[in-house]
Amino acid sequence: MEFEKELRKNGLKNTPHRTRIMEVLESYEVPVSAQDIYERLKEDKVRISLSTVYRTLDKLVALDFVRKLSFTGEDSALFESIRKGHRHYLVCLRCRKKTVIDKCPIKEYQETLERETDFSIEGHKLAIYGYCPACK
Ligand SMILES: [Zn+2]
Ligand SMILES: [Zn+2]
Repeated sequence: MEFEKELRKNGLKNTPHRTRIMEVLESYEVPVSAQDIYERLKEDKVRISLSTVYRTLDKLVALDFVRKLSFTGEDSALFESIRKGHRHYLVCLRCRKKTVIDKCPIKEYQETLERETDFSIEGHKLAIYGYCPACK
């Protein structure tokens, strides 16, 4: 797995938990909570506690393998693999379903802003809220 090579390159020890959690994250199209990951691992008969999932996620965030996100209407933070790239989501306020927007809607605006303000922009956060076809 690519992830294991990257860990070694950074002189970090790979642990089975790190690998399993990365695998789970990469199997989802959308960000998931620590609880979702925990339940999925339990289904796969992986012996792990919820607090270990949290701890491992924090470590993976610190190592820049995982991105931590917060969404309106969501009680806990959600996580996604950095390898999924720069993404935005449509978020349903009722069922919490998330849909990937296939294009960054403000990329060009960000470039214009940089030119106009001489600000060196490092990134942005954007999520669009509403009701999905099933909920509206
Ligand atoms: Zn919905
Ligand atoms: Zn964007």
